[in-house]
Amino acid sequence: MSARPASGTLSIVIPMFNEEDVLPLMRRRLDAVLAGPLQALRPQVILVDDGSTDRTAELMRALVAADARYQALILSRNYGHQVALTAGLDHATGDAVVVLDADLQDPPELIPEMLARWREGSDVVFGQRTSRTDDSPAKRLTARCFYWLIRHLSGVDIPDNVGDFRLMDKAVVQALRRMPEHFRFVRGLVAWVGFRQVAVAFERAPRAAGVTKYPWKKMFLFAIDAVFAFSAVPIRLATLMGLVFVAIAGEEVLRTLYLRLVSGVTIPGFSAIFIAVLIVGGLNLLFLGIIGEYVGRIYVETKNRPLYVVQEFVSKEPGS
Ligand code: UDP
Ligand code: MG
Repeated sequence: MSARPASGTLSIVIPMFNEEDVLPLMRRRLDAVLAGPLQALRPQVILVDDGSTDRTAELMRALVAADARYQALILSRNYGHQVALTAGLDHATGDAVVVLDADLQDPPELIPEMLARWREGSDVVFGQRTSRTDDSPAKRLTARCFYWLIRHLSGVDIPDNVGDFRLMDKAVVQALRRMPEHFRFVRGLVAWVGFRQVAVAFERAPRAAGVTKYPWKKMFLFAIDAVFAFSAVPIRLATLMGLVFVAIAGEEVLRTLYLRLVSGVTIPGFSAIFIAVLIVGGLNLLFLGIIGEYVGRIYVETKNRPLYVVQEFVSKEPGS
């Protein structure tokens, strides 16, 4: 692994959706980190406002006016965390780009360590949480199932207990820019592009203020998007199930014929038929639904709409 030169610039991308409560706290923590050795990297902090309905955008503007290192990318509406993050990455100019949650669950104090690993030659340095003790047991269980499923279905090695908190080299960010797909599961895309990836461990703190912007419904849709974006296995299940049912049907035909011709027995089987019809009918609908999921996604992708629309880019830097 070849080491990188000590020069280079740093961008930090922070997607925000209704984060007026954490923004001032976040700034204090981040400023303390930026005031240290990171100063030499001429940091650019891109705050992405993902269609907030509270005072987030207003606070961002004030921050940009007071501190030239900060820039605000104000999206025209709420596009969701993964798209907001992508918008930030598209505007990042640094040689290394860090993605951070606004709520301080991803400690900014870890950035220097990530940078050190990057300097040693790693292209992606992701934060891996050592414990999930602050998450509810239900969230921990669903997260485990989700990561198991996605790893086994996708064939892409998506590490466990890893969110979007990571440092990426410019080359990785450029590779991501070439993936304009709408159903985005960014950590999967980053795993897919490859390069040299390493983990640094960190303790994930509870949210600093405000409430989660990922209620159960959003989380569920996020998981569905990830599975369908990274795997064609669900659609193949239909073939597998079809084969199983044909095999069972074949066996039943042979058994019935044998009993009838050899033993002279007629099987009374109304309920068996009823159950079989229900199962096969249900599976038919289920797999039609799965095919529908893929077709719907193909439809959205073929429309070729932009991923997001920027309402305003607020920056003090001339010409940016
Ligand atoms: N977020 C966003 N758009 C959304 C939902 C969330 O930009 O539609 C941001 C949010 O402001 C935060 C990050 O995504 O910076 C992660 O959200 P949150 O902390 O609420 O999720 P959790 O940690 O509870 O899973
Ligand atoms: Mg959070």
